[in-house]
Amino acid sequence: MSFSELGLSPKVLEAITAAGYTTPTAIQTQAIPHALQRKDVMGLAQTGSGKTAAFVLPMLSMLEKGRARARMPRTLILEPTRELAAQVEESFATLGKNHKLTVALLIGGVAFDPQAAKIDRGADVVIATPGRLLDHFERGRLMMSGIEMLVIDEADRMLDMGFIPDIERICKLLPFTRQTMFFSATMPPEIQRLTETFLHNPVKIETSQRSSTAESIVQQLVQAPHDPKAKRDTLRTLIRTQDNIKNAIVFANRKTTVALLDKSLRQHGFNAGALHGDMDQSARMKTLAAFRANELTILIASDVAARGLDIPDVSHVFNFDVPTHSEDYVHRIGRTGRAGREGHAFTMVTREESKQLKGVLDLIKKDIPYFKLDNVVAEPEPSAVPVRPKRESKRIRPPVQAPQPRVEEPLPEPNVVVAERPSRNPPRHKHEAVDDSSGFHAGNMPAFLVKR
Ligand code: AMP
Repeated sequence: MSFSELGLSPKVLEAITAAGYTTPTAIQTQAIPHALQRKDVMGLAQTGSGKTAAFVLPMLSMLEKGRARARMPRTLILEPTRELAAQVEESFATLGKNHKLTVALLIGGVAFDPQAAKIDRGADVVIATPGRLLDHFERGRLMMSGIEMLVIDEADRMLDMGFIPDIERICKLLPFTRQTMFFSATMPPEIQRLTETFLHNPVKIETSQRSSTAESIVQQLVQAPHDPKAKRDTLRTLIRTQDNIKNAIVFANRKTTVALLDKSLRQHGFNAGALHGDMDQSARMKTLAAFRANELTILIASDVAARGLDIPDVSHVFNFDVPTHSEDYVHRIGRTGRAGREGHAFTMVTREESKQLKGVLDLIKKDIPYFKLDNVVAEPEPSAVPVRPKRESKRIRPPVQAPQPRVEEPLPEPNVVVAERPSRNPPRHKHEAVDDSSGFHAGNMPAFLVKR
């Protein structure tokens, strides 16, 4: 199947060629013809499937007729995060380069008035996060009665972030006759209910799960200590065993862990930056731009902050924690091994995380082998082993042949159900101090990992 068979306009086809797309992806082949017939579409699709173009391309064809009126946008795209919204805007810049369209990005964390001014002039496309869109509406700066097409993207993430009441409210403000395109990676009952309420006879499209295309990703588990400081140490050791890192994302479950890892890795000379929900918008954009431009080698991110971000060609993913929601594992590792390139995904697992690990293995229906990481700094016994003194910190780049470490109690074999048991370790401190003692030096690291 080629793009020219999908029914898209010549102007759109020209932009597709200029963007370098040669063949439509599965979601594009299946969704675009229906979308062009003005049918509602419900797509079960993940990031990386090409779903953005699956709605942008038919929207562009549709927008060629008619024009925008002041404060009455013609199409609306709802995204759960600011970064995703900004990314969709970029897709319009690329794929809509032959269309003279006004695209308004309505996201929080940036000034309100320039956004309002843009809608005042008449926007063909509004790309918004739900809260900021409602803000504009409530202040009377925006009317939703002219919306002909609505896209709800990453609906399951909207659910995780508590946006469903906002989405319901927005849907009720839109004309009944609008067309709706709805995308979600998973279909929990709340999402199912939403589609039943707000979509009319949708064409259902399901592309294969991301995990089935993950053959190009080498997935490995790494046994890790529970103690946060020792765990960070293990991460650094692990990163150093990989001498083919082009760029990497380190995922952590909590924002606080992301911030700590950021500080810790930078202190140890890594070229790292963080992306989490508590950062202001401009800082997030700056970090992301630096990572995309390869000025930053390691991005540390939480799931919410990283969801859906299009960062091509990531060579490594390191999961500092096993994700609490198993599906996040698929999203996380999907950042690497794209377009058939080889990718590496390491997941650090503590004994305490065996239940989450089982969830992941059940989901992906696959075993993940353990990577043997020698020279792991063993977990300190409770109340023993204070912080290692600074002078020990001259250790040289370890990797694999280093002397045998003190071995932790073995983790359960993957795919074996293990009852949870209380930790032998003291509880995590609310505010963990950043370690500065385990002392690799920038000079001992491969140049590409070092902060310039
Ligand atoms: P998405 O799933 O929409 O985030 O898209 C993932 C990546 O695939 C983006 O970098 C797109 O530019 C790219 N992409 C989308 N469709 C195609 C296509 N048909 N051929 C090649 N790349 C594509």
